[in-house]
Amino acid sequence: MPVQILLEASWCKGCAICVDLCAKNVFVMKNNLPVIVNLPACTRCMLCEMRCPDFALTVI
Ligand code: SF4
Ligand code: SF4
Repeated sequence: MPVQILLEASWCKGCAICVDLCAKNVFVMKNNLPVIVNLPACTRCMLCEMRCPDFALTVI
């Protein structure tokens, strides 16, 4: 099954930790939210989900 990354935007405070941690540059910040720009590069390492302080990301 292809990877999916869900963002609960109302929980996100725009800290950009997910953008900084992702070694594959899957996200960029835009309008204070992470935007997925390279989903095929995602290795499902789960770092973004585990380190988001607001539990806003879910990797499936
Ligand atoms: S699971 Fe890993 S590779 Fe995928 S977006 Fe999150 S930090 Fe990046
Ligand atoms: S780490 Fe979480 S709160 Fe911070 S920008 Fe990413 S999704 Fe938003």
